[in-house]
Amino acid sequence: MSRQIDSPRKDNSEENISRKNNSGKDGFKDRLEQKLKDRKVQNLFRKRHTLTSCQGPTVKIDGRLLINFCSNDYLGLANHPEVVSAFKKTADQYGIGSGASSLVCGRCDLHQRLEERLAEKTGREAALIFPSGYMANLAVATTFAGRADGVFLDRLAHASLIDAARLSNARLHRYQHVDPASLDLALKQSSADQKLVLTDAVFSMDGDKAPLDELISVCNVNNAVLVVDDAHGFGVLGKNGGGLLEEKEISVGDVPIFVATFGKALGTAGAFIAADQIMIETLIQFARTYIYTTAQPPALISATLAALEVLEIESWRREKLGALVKHFCSGANALGLDLLSSETAIQPLMIGDSENAVRISDELFDAGFLISAIRPPTVPEGGARLRITLTAGHTEEQVDRLLETLGRLL
Ligand SMILES: *Cc1c(COP(=O)(O)O)cnc(C)c1O
Repeated sequence: MSRQIDSPRKDNSEENISRKNNSGKDGFKDRLEQKLKDRKVQNLFRKRHTLTSCQGPTVKIDGRLLINFCSNDYLGLANHPEVVSAFKKTADQYGIGSGASSLVCGRCDLHQRLEERLAEKTGREAALIFPSGYMANLAVATTFAGRADGVFLDRLAHASLIDAARLSNARLHRYQHVDPASLDLALKQSSADQKLVLTDAVFSMDGDKAPLDELISVCNVNNAVLVVDDAHGFGVLGKNGGGLLEEKEISVGDVPIFVATFGKALGTAGAFIAADQIMIETLIQFARTYIYTTAQPPALISATLAALEVLEIESWRREKLGALVKHFCSGANALGLDLLSSETAIQPLMIGDSENAVRISDELFDAGFLISAIRPPTVPEGGARLRITLTAGHTEEQVDRLLETLGRLL
């Protein structure tokens, strides 16, 4: 195929026809069609919804209003008036695009202010902003680990952490889910120069929490650096929304590198890494996903700053979310629903078979609820589920309606 692409273009039509007939290009499309067909046969084919409303506890799709139980907008900040107004005001002042990467001329005083705010919020020396959590995780692994090193990941770590580990060229080890003994064994068996352990704080598809205290002990004993990705805890957990580390009162030194995102509880987009000055400076110098990408738009940075304010002022959002989670869990238990054990806003209802998961998701849609079926490879084989998420924007009545419908359909 590469020979065909590399060969010089000719305008001779006969030549074009013959090339088309046996060109790798046709074979290429055939292979893609087969791949898509296989995906359908396995009930793993993904369809995208098109919303015609803002993100929130109810959304509009195909002209229908649905109660939305699959968003990560845990605190309902995606459409918060203060957040929206901060975005608008800054857009009037700064325009939209940042115009360049952060190292060229895309970084403004607002980026500086957000970095300082995040460092303060997480109790660390410095912070660095990324366009997405995916890119922040790539930055961590590729900057802090290389060929002679080892990266250790929980079996259920987020896809971005897996890709990050792969891209780092370090040796990748997977330990059993939330199992410090399994990590300990893997670390002891490794002769890597440096050992980097990456874990989600709250697991994105299971909703359970990493056993941070035990992981910290294991890392300390084995001289490994622990990185925690708190995409689903930051903003939601802890008295001030500092995340799982705040909730568990974990000292900053025990988790040298902290990653969290803005696209979930903060309701905006982007992510950050917080660490000490030397680590952040190293990222600025070497992290390719920081250096070779356009800086976030100033208006978006302002929106994130506003969301951080709301987070502290409106603590009732965290309290309400906590109460709704409890309400949902007790109702689901009374119905005997097969929920994974989770105390967070992520409440996975296990189905197992992908076909059933899709069918139930479709039936819920018909009944007025938006809950997507999560299937392999996002979750392990046989682990298809409905990933139900609750938000501070929901009402108890909406949760009751969901429970009643689940009780009827399952
Ligand atoms: C969502 C998520 C990410 C990716 O963050 P984006 O900003 O959406 O790219 C990274 N890690 C975890 C654990 C996540 O859930």
